[in-house]
Amino acid sequence: MHPALVPVFDDLVARNPGEVEFHQAAREVLESLGPVVSKHPEYADAEVIRRLCEPERQVIFRVPWTDDAGRVQINRGFRVEFNSALGPYKGGLRFHPSVYLGIVKFLGFEQIFKNSLTGLPIGGGKGGSDFDPKGRSAGEVMRFCQSFMTELYRHIGEHTDVPAGDTGVGQREIGYMFGQYKRITNRYESGTFTGKGLSWGGSRVRTEATGYGLAYFAERVLSASGTGLDGRRVVVSGSGNVAIHAIEKVHQLGGRVVACSDSDGFVVEESGIDVDLLKEIKNGRRGRIVDYAEERGAPFTPGGDIWSLPCDVALPCATQNELGVDGAAALIRGGCVLVAEGANMPTSPDAIRALRQAGVAFAPGKAANAGGVATSALEMQQNASRDSWGFEHTEERLAEIMASIHDRCLETADEYGSPGDYTAGANIAGFTKVADAMLALGVV
Ligand code: GLU
Repeated sequence: MHPALVPVFDDLVARNPGEVEFHQAAREVLESLGPVVSKHPEYADAEVIRRLCEPERQVIFRVPWTDDAGRVQINRGFRVEFNSALGPYKGGLRFHPSVYLGIVKFLGFEQIFKNSLTGLPIGGGKGGSDFDPKGRSAGEVMRFCQSFMTELYRHIGEHTDVPAGDTGVGQREIGYMFGQYKRITNRYESGTFTGKGLSWGGSRVRTEATGYGLAYFAERVLSASGTGLDGRRVVVSGSGNVAIHAIEKVHQLGGRVVACSDSDGFVVEESGIDVDLLKEIKNGRRGRIVDYAEERGAPFTPGGDIWSLPCDVALPCATQNELGVDGAAALIRGGCVLVAEGANMPTSPDAIRALRQAGVAFAPGKAANAGGVATSALEMQQNASRDSWGFEHTEERLAEIMASIHDRCLETADEYGSPGDYTAGANIAGFTKVADAMLALGVV
């Protein structure tokens, strides 16, 4: 790390004790910014990096609700409004028992750079709750969402802060939250949420966007070396919204996804995962991968290490730090040429180092999975103009945005002396746009 940035990082750790995921996300960005600090002393003079590391606002609140047995349950709700230099705070809500302030801050911090990379006018934020939706009835999920929104509504708005989904939050939850927001405010303010249903202000392609965008990005990385996804053997971890649509687009581009997973284990299917059945089981029945494996007569491995499967391309689409140094070593042994992140920060720092040393191309989530939030910004555009675009037009826009993110990462990496390093390119390109806006807006 550049010596000027060491005290910035040390202060961040001291001021945010125990928030290890936030430290990890910040370290990765700061480690990339050395050449920027040398080239642009004006950033240091205005303490842009220090300011960027401190969220503009953090809200933590109680979420009381009643379960089906009539018992009162208490969860904790969060919204970290990290940076609004480029536009209203924008980022998803995650409902998962692992959620605490450190997770929300890591996600919010990543979101600043990701959103900047899309080239669209959106700032960075993130939120969520330690609520565990697993095994909860639709009524319980609705009551939780309504209680969550009864506090959050006062902090959000189409020009202020625009939430969306993330792990554990899909269209159903967005619907319950938007409904409660509409009721409390007495306004049909569609642009306050993205990821909405098509009949109530949603955008075509938003559901598919993160996974599709990831596949487009992977295709473009491979095409830089004269190949593509066609004929490639691909392993995807996870089986949520991102994974499902990554599998679908990889298949459309000629690749074959031979495995996917959930927190219980993974399934292997040499002929390729049947994505329609997977959708039906996960979304229609809210079932598990073991159900999919049973129905297909395909082998299911409980727990286990999906990265031990030989593949050309690995797409981690489950959760943070799911691909560690052992997984990286297995991928290298198995002949993997590209790891592209569908989840946020799924690859641990030592795993990234190992992959890089072995010459495996690595596409960081803040670039490779930016298609989701980019399409959220397209949803905001449609809401602002009370318009609704067709599927093809919207997907074309997504493909253009992914191509431009990819190319800007490579150009920036070149310009700052790390040719081919997508992580450096993404961090620097994402950072400079935000930093320039912060300089222009003064010390606020
Ligand atoms: N949660 C998604 C992400 O990590 C999407 C956020 C959004 O659409 O606002 O980028």
